Amino acid sequence: MDDHALVLNAGSSSLKFCVFQRPNEKDWRIAARGQIEGIGIAPRLSVKDAQGVVLADNNLDAGVTDGHAAIDALASWLRSKWHGARVLGVGHRIVHGGVRYSQPVIMTRQILSDLHELIPLAPLHQPYNLAAIDAVLERLPDVPQVACFDTGFHSGHSEVAELIPLPRSICKSGLRRYGFHGLSYEYIASILPEVAPEVAKGKVIIAHLGSGASLCALRDGKSVDSSLGFTALDGLCMGTRPGALDPGVVLYLFQSLGLTAKEVEKMLYSQSGLLGISGISNDMRDLLSRREPEARLAVDYFVYRAAKEIGALAAVLSGIDALIFTAGIGENSSEVRRRICEASSWLGVDLDTKANANGESRISTAQSKVSAWVVPTNEELMIARHTWSLLGLMKPVS
Ligand code: ADP
Repeated sequence: MDDHALVLNAGSSSLKFCVFQRPNEKDWRIAARGQIEGIGIAPRLSVKDAQGVVLADNNLDAGVTDGHAAIDALASWLRSKWHGARVLGVGHRIVHGGVRYSQPVIMTRQILSDLHELIPLAPLHQPYNLAAIDAVLERLPDVPQVACFDTGFHSGHSEVAELIPLPRSICKSGLRRYGFHGLSYEYIASILPEVAPEVAKGKVIIAHLGSGASLCALRDGKSVDSSLGFTALDGLCMGTRPGALDPGVVLYLFQSLGLTAKEVEKMLYSQSGLLGISGISNDMRDLLSRREPEARLAVDYFVYRAAKEIGALAAVLSGIDALIFTAGIGENSSEVRRRICEASSWLGVDLDTKANANGESRISTAQSKVSAWVVPTNEELMIARHTWSLLGLMKPVS
């Protein structure tokens, strides 16, 4: 029977997963990639194999109301597909590692408890990430689990880039800018020498534009700054998060509107951004297809903010050699890419509109001073690489 290993990326309403298989001693190959979406509302399982062939696409029992039930549903699908398979390890995406954890770690109960303390810093992700570890621990207590942190790739930023300019006594306990989406940036940095060798060692801005969105400034393949900070609320406008906000607004919510901390948290994490501006949807594809002025304004603000933050990181890098788009919006929306590139033309980005519309890898003209690219991200493969390396397994090949 083949050996298997899993990668889990557990969110509030979805569980994304990859199943890797080892048909012989050397190779790890991806056997399935899928997700359970709509947890607690209308749960649905969809899975494809490495060639894109559908392995499952069906509604799940309405009893799949939380992360534990989602893991049970996944386990039962895995059993039905690969009965008796041995699971050698499970790798997880964990959003916040705090001051203590920047490198991937093999989970222990102590680490799990430390990571629980960071839940207030990432309430939209951390509790669900950790619930998946708990659920696996209960069901497969002897299988090693590895936590890979979205903050990790950004460790090593300069002191000024990390600084939060509040009194030192307050900042001592880890109040600093961390940056997120690190697994996505690390993956892209790892393949840049193949995809765009001419800029891989240069000054690059990667725009990870998905439901969560951020920018990373890379110099020689290393992160030097990010638009996200202490929590995943800063920087770009996101699906339901506002991005950069005058802190006086938060005081106003407390003092003048009398909102509670929980209400403010809910507003900042779940009701703002594209959803808040449009009042229609948090989904970019949806907004792009609508005619209402509120939908248009939400897209306009998304583009405006992205261009403004690109300018800020270009200043950090003293100019850029390349701009790279990734994640759901970055990989799929030629319109958003076009608008951001046009707004960044002053930096030297000259968009090749045809290449952009065709979704080609390089989307800037041959004479563009700054090249622009679309590079699909693969956070799951990055987690797999870390997990395998920590557990002493061979590297996954695809
Ligand atoms: P996450 O992994 O953070 O949930 P994704 O990277 O999957 O997010 O990105 C989700 C976003 O990508 C949504 O806003 C969705 O509308 C957008 N998206 C996906 N495909 C397209 C498309 N073809 N055009 C525009 N936006 C798209």
